[in-house]
Amino acid sequence: MALEIVRIPALDDNYIWLVHEPVSGETMVVDPAEADPVLAEAEKRGWHITQIWNTHWHPDHIGGNADIKTATGCHVTGPAAEAAKINTLDTLVKEGDTVRLGAVQARVLDVPAHTAGHIAYHFAGEDAAFVGDTLFAMGCGRLFEGSPAQMYANMRKLEALPEATRVYCAHEYTQSNGRYALHAEPDNAALVARMAEVDAARARGEPTVPTTIALEKATNPFMRATSVDELAARRAAKDNFRG
Ligand code: ZN
Ligand code: FE
Repeated sequence: MALEIVRIPALDDNYIWLVHEPVSGETMVVDPAEADPVLAEAEKRGWHITQIWNTHWHPDHIGGNADIKTATGCHVTGPAAEAAKINTLDTLVKEGDTVRLGAVQARVLDVPAHTAGHIAYHFAGEDAAFVGDTLFAMGCGRLFEGSPAQMYANMRKLEALPEATRVYCAHEYTQSNGRYALHAEPDNAALVARMAEVDAARARGEPTVPTTIALEKATNPFMRATSVDELAARRAAKDNFRG
């Protein structure tokens, strides 16, 4: 693995990902909710931030763009379909585009539904994907600007990635997602086992992200929904779930 990937907790439950490519020395930030902890972490490591990559327009994903750009002069890449809502973008990308970080490159996937123009970044050579608020550990994003059919298509696209792919999502929602997942699939042994590990990790104050495509295929009730209708029913149930 060429990339060094650092988790920066922010706001209530966001994760900002700081990604360093050691050959070129480039450093990129995925979805900076805020600037200060990102600039502090980069400084501590002696890394100079050269890029920001955004997955969607929500303020908890772009809130640090302007201040990081001012502080570092970095270049900002984000979803073409949401350019009107992110005024700090320099490069607009969509499905099939390639984005470079020094010696490595990522492919852009369109994954609309949480927002209408949501994208993800897949580093095929690194077995890593940055998925924003589309796929979470045992969960998926709320359907603010899209349909169950779109989210169902997103799940097909993401489950087609190699099983070893590490999935870097933007929130620590795992325990809450897992409680609903167990309600949806109480007899899923992989899910029962995973939730025991998640509860133990959270009790120790440890993060549960990144996840992997293999784990999500085994335990994610939205990826495992076998039809658009089932995904829609599960999403609606999760929205109202008080577990
Ligand atoms: Zn969001
Ligand atoms: Fe978010």
